[in-house]
Amino acid sequence: MKKHLHDSLPPYLKVENEELWLTEDDRENLKISYRIKEVIFSQQSAFQHVMILDSYDFGRMLVLDGVVQTTSIDGHIYNEMISHIPLQLHPAAKKVLIIGGGDCGAAKEAAKYQQLEQIDMVEIDEVVVQSCKEHLPAVSGNLSDPRVRFIYTDGVAFVKERTKEYDVIIVDSSDPVGPAEALFSRDFYASIRQALKDDGLMVCQSQSPIFHLDILKQTHTNIRQLFPHAAVYTATVPTYPGGLWSFTIGSNIPLSLPESAAVPTDTKYVNEAVLKQCFQLPEFMRKAL
Ligand code: SAM
Repeated sequence: MKKHLHDSLPPYLKVENEELWLTEDDRENLKISYRIKEVIFSQQSAFQHVMILDSYDFGRMLVLDGVVQTTSIDGHIYNEMISHIPLQLHPAAKKVLIIGGGDCGAAKEAAKYQQLEQIDMVEIDEVVVQSCKEHLPAVSGNLSDPRVRFIYTDGVAFVKERTKEYDVIIVDSSDPVGPAEALFSRDFYASIRQALKDDGLMVCQSQSPIFHLDILKQTHTNIRQLFPHAAVYTATVPTYPGGLWSFTIGSNIPLSLPESAAVPTDTKYVNEAVLKQCFQLPEFMRKAL
């Protein structure tokens, strides 16, 4: 155990019966706890408290302000789904923008597409990127692809100044609190549309259909009103409350998957069958949207 990192524990990390537990208690009626082996990294950045923890069941995890963002056990599900689906829908993409995504998992997946010439990653918090590169290689892959440009600034301000620049924009944000709140606003999606080329498309994570159907509905409504084409797809990510997770696409061109998809061979979750079925929504979601 790295004792010095345990000396002053934040309120969401507690020692109980000599065991270390992380408890996510950002919700009014639900607490989720993970038994932790070790605190690998802990630092208060200018934006949030950043931790890399080693847990018993989920391996290493990135935790921001006490909330689990991604883990070495299931991070690939989310990161593959937020990257490969839009890149399959736009097989001619050359220039991609990722907003957020500090764990580098989405950039790692996008870099599997050889036809991409530039992957801009705009993350507000450099501490997240550096700590994940160093301590969470299962997710970040120690990304050093020269096509990936790291830009440390607010994604909202960044897209406002771009016009018709990107083929695909991936909004890989944390929950809509703190610096990520603006990444769920209608004005932000309008700036994203302006930053996309005429045949471009965007995707964002749109939260849990089980616990935050309201956020999903609002996101879908905003995107449907701003873009000529919109669609929602899902994946199951065990560490996110509710398990079932949603992603919303806004596109300037009709959405259709290529006849035979060329999914990179080194994926762990996405394959051609997943690509085809992920847009099939359960009845409660279909009715709500
Ligand atoms: N996959 C994760 C999930 O759904 O919980 C989250 C991925 S990633 C860790 C989210 C990143 O968005 C964080 O690193 C955070 O610093 C970044 N972020 C939050 N607000 C931002 C903003 N306004 N501009 C750019 N990045 C932002």
